[in-house]
Amino acid sequence: RRKWRTVVEILKELEEGCDTPVGRLRQVVDAMAVEMHAGLASEGGSKLKMLLTFVHELPKGTEKGTYYALHLGGTYFRILRVHLGGERSYLDVQDVERHPIPSHLMNSTSEVLFNFLAFSLERFIEKEGNGSNSQGVKRELAFTFSFPVKHSSISSGVLIKWTKGFEISEMVGKDIAECLQVALNRRGLDMHVAVLVNDTVGVLSLGYYHDPDTVVAVVFGTGSNACYLERTDAIIKSQGLLTTSGSMVVNMEWGNFWSSHLPRTSYDIDLDAESSNPNDMGFEKMISGMYLGDIVRRVILRMSQESDIFGPSSSLLSEPYALRTNSVSAMHEDDTPELQEVARILKDLGVSEVPLKVRKLVVKVCDVVTRRAGRLAAAGIAGILKKIGRDGSGGITSGRSRSEIQMQKRTVVAVEGGLYMNYTMFREYMEEALVEILGEEVSQYVVVKAMEDGSSIGSALLVASLQS
Ligand code: ADP
Repeated sequence: RRKWRTVVEILKELEEGCDTPVGRLRQVVDAMAVEMHAGLASEGGSKLKMLLTFVHELPKGTEKGTYYALHLGGTYFRILRVHLGGERSYLDVQDVERHPIPSHLMNSTSEVLFNFLAFSLERFIEKEGNGSNSQGVKRELAFTFSFPVKHSSISSGVLIKWTKGFEISEMVGKDIAECLQVALNRRGLDMHVAVLVNDTVGVLSLGYYHDPDTVVAVVFGTGSNACYLERTDAIIKSQGLLTTSGSMVVNMEWGNFWSSHLPRTSYDIDLDAESSNPNDMGFEKMISGMYLGDIVRRVILRMSQESDIFGPSSSLLSEPYALRTNSVSAMHEDDTPELQEVARILKDLGVSEVPLKVRKLVVKVCDVVTRRAGRLAAAGIAGILKKIGRDGSGGITSGRSRSEIQMQKRTVVAVEGGLYMNYTMFREYMEEALVEILGEEVSQYVVVKAMEDGSSIGSALLVASLQS
């Protein structure tokens, strides 16, 4: 077959470029822990912003009442209502709505965006009838907002920058909670924005509610981010400000992590250069749902340009983001003998009639890209564990006693997001690499727990914990 060898060369080069032996992962682990330290030491000290959340305490399980959450993610927005009966087992998620964010909103104006959100909340409440809320009592709402925010309190903060393809520039620097509250008031809605939380903080809250050993939360959805519980005395950049309690949840904004140890290919470089936020969110662009599909597309595009094994050139294949990560997982996990799912998806991209051998090659490309993502994600998590001394090494924070170092505590990492929840191979690669990095013994103490809808449910729990 013509130029089959060229394509095999491209694959080989990709495999080498994406290689993540455990030694390299350990370098990423170390870099993550070092950057965390630097980001906590001074403002602007690292690409990791290590943002204060003003969340000092997480829900205990004894909260009561009815609360609402609105979550603006990268691809979806969700609205839900939870009822809490005062014990963990009485957590009742009564109503959940999940819709794609209309794409025109992503580069509209803040007024259009927040009017839309307020309108959606209004419809949600209308469906309730009168049963759920006694007259005269304001509905308490958590606003889960999956973008970087500089907080001034648990219920206020300004947008630092957009990510994940959003581009409403006049919103940068505005108070996000206030924008929503104003839009709610304008519609005459009896709702109070009680907290503004990052989605990772919601996931941590739900994790902690169920299991107080939960100290880290990670999201792998359209984007990727992590938060964890830090000792306030380790947040050096804010000493004095944080004297009230022993700890605070820190939103790492780890999507922006960068290290020269990350295995970067020409596809990553091009993807970044052509994105709406070049030179930004380098880690996110290698590990999250918005981008994996496009990395795979770029590899296939190059293969199709340098050989004729994909038939006549397809203009769709040159279209950025034409291949979604959902399709990557569908191809990767295609277990039909003829790889019919792969054939169907390629056909949708304008590439039809590819022989089985080529379909197998495409599956391999998906595997290489997703394996790298899963393994780097694991290195990120291990980096956090290292920072807080839960990786078996004692961490890099000084001042811990020897006994503390040697005694390994059970540590739960709460995880959420469409990529993690739905893409089995990503999840497996991640979990396998985590054991590889930590070693069998320490891994026994590290539990990774899926928290479905944790970002919204957990934020509602946080509101509840503030009321009680
Ligand atoms: P958001 O990021 O908007 O908060 P989610 O956490 O649900 O929403 O993540 C949605 C993203 O997860 C999608 O954009 C996609 O990248 C990824 N995803 C969802 N389903 C799958 C799937 N079956 N396979 C791979 N990735 C998926």
